[in-house]
Amino acid sequence: MSALTKTELAAIEHCVAAPMLDQVSQWAAVNSGSRHLAGLERVAADLADAFSALPGTVALEDAAPVETMVADGALSPVSHGQNLHMTVRPQAPVQLLFTGHMDTVFGADHGFQTVFWREEGVLGGPGVADMKGGLAVMLAALKAVEKSPDADRIGYEVVINSDEEVGSPASAALLVQAAQGKRAALTYEPAALPDGTLAGARPGSGNFAFVVHGRSAHAGRNPEEGRNALTAAAELALRLEALKRDGLTVNPSRIEGGGPSNVVADLAILRVNLRPRTPEIEAEAKRAIADEVAAVASERDVSIEADGGFGRPPKPLTPEAEKLFNLVRQAGANLGQQIAWQASGGVCDGNNIAACGVPVVDTMGVRGGKIHSPEEYLIVDSLAERAALSALTILRLAEGA
Ligand SMILES: [Zn+2]
Repeated sequence: MSALTKTELAAIEHCVAAPMLDQVSQWAAVNSGSRHLAGLERVAADLADAFSALPGTVALEDAAPVETMVADGALSPVSHGQNLHMTVRPQAPVQLLFTGHMDTVFGADHGFQTVFWREEGVLGGPGVADMKGGLAVMLAALKAVEKSPDADRIGYEVVINSDEEVGSPASAALLVQAAQGKRAALTYEPAALPDGTLAGARPGSGNFAFVVHGRSAHAGRNPEEGRNALTAAAELALRLEALKRDGLTVNPSRIEGGGPSNVVADLAILRVNLRPRTPEIEAEAKRAIADEVAAVASERDVSIEADGGFGRPPKPLTPEAEKLFNLVRQAGANLGQQIAWQASGGVCDGNNIAACGVPVVDTMGVRGGKIHSPEEYLIVDSLAERAALSALTILRLAEGA
């Protein structure tokens, strides 16, 4: 650790002493599935309390209104929890963004609810890695930076949203607003691999619902007067699936609709997920979707409304992002941690931040694994390790002003 300054060494000491294990255990013991508003409210209050140790004011802001398409093709409002938002020293020369999410994929009725020791040094529990552990790491790093003599050079915003696991529909605007004017962003998703490897490039992701309206008729007496919405939706699914190519995955995931066997189906809803690797492929995919919708609608004489879009833009590894990755790698090397990165097929808020032109490393959180499953675990030693990595990265971002 010879390359570390006195300030850096002091920050690392603070990270090691931070009560991260207690915090993760406390936060993960409260269910905060994306749809469990009462649990989210409790976790948001706990986080607001913990983050109030930083200067600046912590606000819990209401989610933006969101609608979703339900089975009868109508739009219906969906509620989301509040988002934590804080601003610290907005006049400082170096402005950074720190983000995380308080929600998990485990709903209130899921079987996976408690925190327990899987073995010595390995904690199991819902969200321990994704990402309540990451939130503890973020807080410890920021507290350590606040103790350093360089703190007044650094200003930042923190956003901890409550709907990341469902695509951040109600917090995307807040993230975009907070990203404005930032030199860099760090997001605290768990490392891509248990060895600490970061996620580099990510594809984008779009969810679409296509509502097909046909015309009902008697299946035996006058079927020729009917227009079958179900088969039109099926054809659209096949045509969209055929758009798959290098750099674009397409997954038709559900068709709802139809009715009794003696009626030509007049309503069907097709849901599809598409993941383009680059913004160019996203733009081409959008045009191709519109073309296929128009073709099926005209050939089958049905009407098709499309709802949804590419909520997560692709996140290619830009030269600016690569610079930030190299800074993190160097910080890791000085701490005796080997940090590599690799492309990931997953998406997260890092996609949305990168689309604002702000370089982001979005897997600054803990080492662990099996996330989104009841085997999710956190390697407890990684709390101090990753907090030190973050603190060092932040201090060096401030130096480069
Ligand atoms: Zn996550």
